Amino acid sequence: MERKELLKDLDQQVKNDLENYFKDRDYGVIAVTKEDALRAFVVRTTNLCEVARLKHKLSPIAAAVLGRALAGALLLTSLLKHGTNQRLLLRIEGDGPIGLVVAEANAKGEVRGFVENPNVETFVKEADGKKKFDIARAVGKGTLTVIKDFGFGKPYESSVPLVSGEIAEDIAYYLLKSEQIPSAVSLGVLVNEDGKVEVAGGFLAQPLPGATDKAIEKLEENVRKIPPITTLLKECKRPEDIVELIFDGFSPQLLALKELSFRCRCSKEIAKNSILMLPEEEIKELIKEGGVSIKCNFCGTEYFFSAKELEEILQEKKQGDN
Ligand SMILES: [Zn+2]
Repeated sequence: MERKELLKDLDQQVKNDLENYFKDRDYGVIAVTKEDALRAFVVRTTNLCEVARLKHKLSPIAAAVLGRALAGALLLTSLLKHGTNQRLLLRIEGDGPIGLVVAEANAKGEVRGFVENPNVETFVKEADGKKKFDIARAVGKGTLTVIKDFGFGKPYESSVPLVSGEIAEDIAYYLLKSEQIPSAVSLGVLVNEDGKVEVAGGFLAQPLPGATDKAIEKLEENVRKIPPITTLLKECKRPEDIVELIFDGFSPQLLALKELSFRCRCSKEIAKNSILMLPEEEIKELIKEGGVSIKCNFCGTEYFFSAKELEEILQEKKQGDN
């Protein structure tokens, strides 16, 4: 299901098929409208967000921040060629207590990421009479950077200041300023009282070149009326149901589907290369200490190298340096 170009009317039969095929798995639906040049990308990321929480032992607010960044990076892959190995990195550098937030996604729907301080304490604010995580306080003020790697040449890097710190608005601002694509972006993660991720997801809605003013106005009106994405997902609404809300008054058509997962490409080989880069003296020090454990930032996996393995790496380095 990596690359499937569809353009099917989103009727009840198609909706049933999607539900039977994806069941409770994470996936994204990319849709357009029959009548006008509008596009939407809706993702449900509950499972991958919970995987990230467990891998990084995230505090509730850290899970909400990273969950938003992971879904945001997946939505941004609409800037890449669907189904390819092209990838992008979303980096949020704020002065808040969570520190650096990084999410990397590829056009196949694989995503990984981390936050600098996974134990950050939870800040709560009151909004509309409800208690909510104060994401902006955890993130702080700073910049949002997107690095697009098309697999050839130098990756494209572009930064914008954080305008809200809530991540969704910041991504919308990036799309407007750096990509000249006016967009509505919504992201949400609901963490339950046990600290588990209950639902997570997001959407991106945008006019395509040639969209009429009337269609853009209607899209804006629809997006304003949509309840928070976490409310919809909690009511068991599926991405295709949310597409219907975004495109209320239009006939939605499916353009593509994407299965989504948390996946890290790290390996012992990559960890070994990072040891090879160390000065000889440092490798000798690690041998004396009896070995070393190299941790992958993106997924928390630890790769252990014994003194014997380090000796071999040291020999390889000496040969390589000659
Ligand atoms: Zn990893």
